[in-house]
Amino acid sequence: MAKYVYMDGKLVEKDQAKVSVFDHGVLYGDGVFEGIRAYSGRVFKLDEHIDRLFNSAKVIMLDIPLSKDEFKAAIIQVCKANGIRDGYIRPVVTRGVGNLGLAPWTCSNPTVFIIADSVQLYPKEYYENGMPLVTVATRRNNQEALSPIVKSLNYLNNIMAKIEARNAGVEEAIMLNTENYVAECTGDNLFVIQGRTVYTPPIIAGVLPGITRATVMELARLGEYTVKERMITRAELFLSDEMFLTGSAAEVVPVVKVDGRIIGDGKPGPITRDLIERFHTYVNAHGTPIA
Ligand code: PMP
Repeated sequence: MAKYVYMDGKLVEKDQAKVSVFDHGVLYGDGVFEGIRAYSGRVFKLDEHIDRLFNSAKVIMLDIPLSKDEFKAAIIQVCKANGIRDGYIRPVVTRGVGNLGLAPWTCSNPTVFIIADSVQLYPKEYYENGMPLVTVATRRNNQEALSPIVKSLNYLNNIMAKIEARNAGVEEAIMLNTENYVAECTGDNLFVIQGRTVYTPPIIAGVLPGITRATVMELARLGEYTVKERMITRAELFLSDEMFLTGSAAEVVPVVKVDGRIIGDGKPGPITRDLIERFHTYVNAHGTPIA
C-alpha cells in the first residue's frame, strides 16, 4: 500500500495528500492523468507515458510546471519511497486552485501529484477463461468535442458506459463512436483476430493511443502476425476468431463473449495466448530501473 504521495514537489504522508475544494480538477475535471505499471523494479514505458501526459496537457493548454526529466525523476522518487517493485503509478496534473468560474486563467499553479500503489487487476478467471463484454448505448467522446487522445480527468462518459456494462451483468463495455464503428472499452483498447491478422481500430476511430496497444502491435509483428488498423463494425466483432483487450492495468485480457455471441470457440484463442506470453516476457525485461 502507498505510504507517501508526491504532492507539488514534496513527498507527504498518504493522509496529508489533499487537494483543495477550489482546485479546478475537482470542480470541473480540468486536468490530465496517466496510469503506469512497474514490473520487477522497473517502470514500464516511462518515456511513452510522460510523452502522452505532456501531449494531453498541451491539447488542453495546461503548462506542466516540471520538465519531462523532472517528472520522470519524481515518479522514480515516489516508487522508491514506497518500496514499489510491482505496482501501479498514477500521475495527475490539474489546472490548480482558482475561483468558482470555469476560466482556467484564474488558476495560478497547476497541482501535481503522483500516487504509487499496488495494482488492481481483473479477476484471474478472465485471464484464464476469457471475459464477456457488451456493447453499450453511450458513445465514445466525439473527437470534435473532447478528443479521446487526451487522457483528461473527464471520464464521466466512460464511467456511464461502465455502469451500462455492469447493469448488463458484465465488467467492461465496448464503446462505439458516433459513426457506429467500434472505438474501445472504457479503460482499455480492443483487438480482434481473423486468421493470422490482428486488427484494432485506428486512432481516428476515437481511441486513446494506448501504450499497451502499441506494445502488443509491435510484439504481434515480431511474432509474424499481420497487424492492421482499420474501422471495425459491431457485427464484425461477433464474427471474429479471437478478441482481446489491452491496457496498463489490465495488460492483455482474452474476450470470449460479446452481446451474448460466443467469440471463436468460446475459449481464449491461440494467438491471444501467444501474445499474452510474449507480453509477460517483454514487460519483465524492459523499463526504467527504480533503484
Ligand atoms: N483506452 C482508455 C479510454 C484508457 O483509459 C486506457 C487506460 N489508460 C486505455 C485505452 C489503455 O491505454 P494504456 O495501454 O496506455 O494503458
